[in-house]
Amino acid sequence: MAIISFIGLGNMGGPMASNLLKAGHQVTVFDLSADAVSALKAEGAGSADTAHEAVKGAECVITMLPAGQHVEAVYLGAEGLLAALPEGTLVIDSSTIAPETAKKVAAQASEHKIRFLDAPVSGGVGGAKAGTLTFICGGSEADYAAAQPILQDMGKNIFRAGEHGSGQVAKICNNMLLAILMAGTSEALALGVKNGLDPAVLSEIMKQSSGGNWALNVYNPWPGVMEAAPASRNYEGGFLVKLMTKDLGLAFDNAVKNEASIPMGSLARNLFSLHAGQGNADLDFSSIQRLYSPK
Ligand code: NAD
Repeated sequence: MAIISFIGLGNMGGPMASNLLKAGHQVTVFDLSADAVSALKAEGAGSADTAHEAVKGAECVITMLPAGQHVEAVYLGAEGLLAALPEGTLVIDSSTIAPETAKKVAAQASEHKIRFLDAPVSGGVGGAKAGTLTFICGGSEADYAAAQPILQDMGKNIFRAGEHGSGQVAKICNNMLLAILMAGTSEALALGVKNGLDPAVLSEIMKQSSGGNWALNVYNPWPGVMEAAPASRNYEGGFLVKLMTKDLGLAFDNAVKNEASIPMGSLARNLFSLHAGQGNADLDFSSIQRLYSPK
């Protein structure tokens, strides 16, 4: 049992904190949303009115925040948590942010003798609820080993990609591929339906053929094909278009810095950004289907 402080209880952080409670850890939570805090409190978590209060006495601090600016605001500067945490505290940031931001937080953590891991996740809200997330870590071997017992209570596959920032690089590569395959799957389904095919039948055919992929297996973008997928509940919840657009922006910035070419990733970024700008930013990212098949 560990004493854990969990900050950021949104679509992902809420169920992750819940799984830590179920595993018997002592968890104190904080979020800017009082409703999110209340939900975890009802499950047995301790609650706090500020992040500083939430981390008092914690051996491990986990954050699951929207983007880099939120992570910097929580950890850095004179008012940030790193300046207040005791030496040796294990800090795990599971938000998807730029590798440079993760490195910046890691460097300041090291100045305060605080252990830090970037540990973004894959697996979506379903994986967060089921405790089957994939964690993609960047940091030292020793800190990675120390985090294992905690990460195992929220995930199934746990990887170390390399030193600080590497977890974020691997995560950005994965999400760029995910955006490309979700857009491609939506495009193929729209073409089939234009030809009169049943989207469920076409999905099953492609799933069992060489076009088979994660979207077809667990996250079909066509409404009604897969009962549990966000597409079948008006694309509510899940992984928001604005977060996918953010991740594609991270991939784009990273490619520019490293003089890498990402033609498919750049196209995907434009598709998702266009879709976000048309009033869909707060829908699940599989709603990219609507760009191809407007109602
Ligand atoms: P979300 O918007 O649902 O949740 C973020 C939470 O952080 C909100 O509850 C918000 O109130 C809280 N928050 C923001 N600033 C805060 C602060 N300063 N202090 C305390 N709380 C604060 O986002 P999410 O879908 O849970 O995603 C979180 C991260 O995980 C993002 O970086 C996202 O890219 C990544 N991610 C999401 C998914 C997914 O399927 N949703 C999958 C993998 C990775």
